[in-house]
Amino acid sequence: MELVMTGTGSPLPSPDRAGPSQLVQVGGRSFLIDCGRGCLMRLAGAATGPAAIERLLLTHLHSDHVTDVNDLITTRWITGFPAVPLPVVGPVGTVSFIDDTLTMLGPDIGWRITHHDDLEAPPEVPVTETAGGLVFEDAEIRILAAPTDHRPVHPTIGYRIEAEGASVVLGGDTVPCPALDELCVGADVYVQTVIRDDLISQVPVARLNDVIDYHSTVVDAAQTAARAGVGTLVLNHCVPTPMPGTEADWIAIAAEHFDGEVLLPDDLDRIPVEPAG
Ligand SMILES: [Zn+2]
Ligand SMILES: [Zn+2]
Repeated sequence: MELVMTGTGSPLPSPDRAGPSQLVQVGGRSFLIDCGRGCLMRLAGAATGPAAIERLLLTHLHSDHVTDVNDLITTRWITGFPAVPLPVVGPVGTVSFIDDTLTMLGPDIGWRITHHDDLEAPPEVPVTETAGGLVFEDAEIRILAAPTDHRPVHPTIGYRIEAEGASVVLGGDTVPCPALDELCVGADVYVQTVIRDDLISQVPVARLNDVIDYHSTVVDAAQTAARAGVGTLVLNHCVPTPMPGTEADWIAIAAEHFDGEVLLPDDLDRIPVEPAG
């Protein structure tokens, strides 16, 4: 199993970091977790097209995590021969979000069906809403969800993908909470949205300071990783965007609280998810 960092950014635009999304690949199968700004450009960079996504898993419906869902729906549809449905899993609210997105796309969908003789039906986007528990299982792969705490954004969920004897957790935007701890227990790789409260609190902008109370700090993420006994902690969706050359500072803060490997990857970095040796 491999984790591909298709978007390591946050709501703050960055020339080098696309909005939040990650790709988990098992053999030739691809699962996309969230679909933020620039996601399809990064999928192209990862040599994976929209038609190759087996399932889209949404952690929550905050704009930065879903900006490019419309692009995924449209581009998968118009580059499919024939187009195949895009199964989506997400928290309660995802059905209406997808319905609204398809409504927004309505005129474009109509024009394309009119223009292309071989496009006869609109994109199909079946949605499964979950509050937690098993969301997918077959002979190779098991995907679990758990409720997280990103209030007032509610509900939100994290995912754990298990395959080939290994596991990766995508915690999403959340403060530490018991369900997240449980989801992470023994995971080989744990990806966590993080902020640096020490840096943000120095900026006299209330709207930026507001983000502190509903995200994990680097220390929080490291402590969650330590409690759960994970192998590798991946710091992601970093706010503020790390200045180039300061990545080691973020990693050092985490390392004070967690003995395992800590990574702060760039877009398109590939992280192996393998059973602990
Ligand atoms: Zn969020
Ligand atoms: Zn976010």
